Amino acid sequence: MATFAVDCPGCGTTKEHMTTTASQIGVHCSCGVTFTVDIDEQTVDDWWERES
Ligand SMILES: [Zn+2]
Repeated sequence: MATFAVDCPGCGTTKEHMTTTASQIGVHCSCGVTFTVDIDEQTVDDWWERES
């Protein structure tokens, strides 16, 4: 299965093993940022800080 990596827009941590099976995926980073990834572009689509 093809995978790719993107960097968290909040802390820069590389998130690996993104799969290309969905049209969009959501990632919850430990730094408190949630972001969505555009599969076609393999880039961060939108992101926001989680309410705590
Ligand atoms: Zn982060």
